[in-house]
Amino acid sequence: MPTATYVSRINQIDAAQLDEEIYKVLRNQAKEITKYQPIEKIDRWQPEIDALLRYLVWYFSLRRGNSTFGQQLLDLRYENITGTKSVLYLISTIVPAYARDKLANTDVDRNFKTAFDRIANVARLLELINLLVFLHRGTQPRLVEYLLGIANSSSTVHKPRSIGYSYMTRELLWHGLTELFTTGLPMLNFHYLKHTAKKLFAGTSNRANLRRSFPAMNRSTKCSYCGDAPILPVHAGCEHLFCYYCLKAHFVATRDFQCPECDTRLYVQDMKTYRSSFPSLPAEPETS
Ligand SMILES: [Zn+2]
Ligand SMILES: [Zn+2]
Repeated sequence: MPTATYVSRINQIDAAQLDEEIYKVLRNQAKEITKYQPIEKIDRWQPEIDALLRYLVWYFSLRRGNSTFGQQLLDLRYENITGTKSVLYLISTIVPAYARDKLANTDVDRNFKTAFDRIANVARLLELINLLVFLHRGTQPRLVEYLLGIANSSSTVHKPRSIGYSYMTRELLWHGLTELFTTGLPMLNFHYLKHTAKKLFAGTSNRANLRRSFPAMNRSTKCSYCGDAPILPVHAGCEHLFCYYCLKAHFVATRDFQCPECDTRLYVQDMKTYRSSFPSLPAEPETS
């Protein structure tokens, strides 16, 4: 079925794709509305809801004019569509999907299901063959269009497809930025920066290097870095305890670390596992 005006293949495929996307957007919206309803109630009516949505899309596009929403966006229309063809088009979009969903939810004869699956596979194969033929022929990307003998034609005077790259550029920039942050932020030593800033604004602390004493742990002891009960408690020269991970992670990044509580400089070679004789904790013999 040759068209009066030339329509590029990409526009026709895009129109079909847009139709599908528009339907999906509506379907998601419908799902949003029924989000808080009991799931089994909605699931039972899902095939009907889908069919209704497809009907509404058809009613407000093809029924009223001669183009689907996707075609309207790309200035396309069906040249020779009639009322009957339009209804057949609707049936071909609703019935297969409806039958498939219904069959999946109900218990029917196994043979019947297998037969239906075969038909669906054949339909899919025909759809693929039609697509390949379309690439050669240049019209009717959908099987239903071929069967009904309807083809896309341009509704405006032929004009080249214009592509705006500004949106794509913005998208690329945004992705680049988020990638930079997601890979870059974990590499920053926030504790070090915080401490440096604190020292800059608050002047030197007079608590620094005051004492180097041995820590004692009880039930209320918290890790001086993360504020939780220390996991695998360690210490490194001051009277405060840390989780093994909290302290080790800092020593991996830097050679020395300032205790957040008393500002004592701690060094990796002083790091020791905490061993206590406190009765509630598993006591271990002192080795060093
Ligand atoms: Zn910790
Ligand atoms: Zn300390």
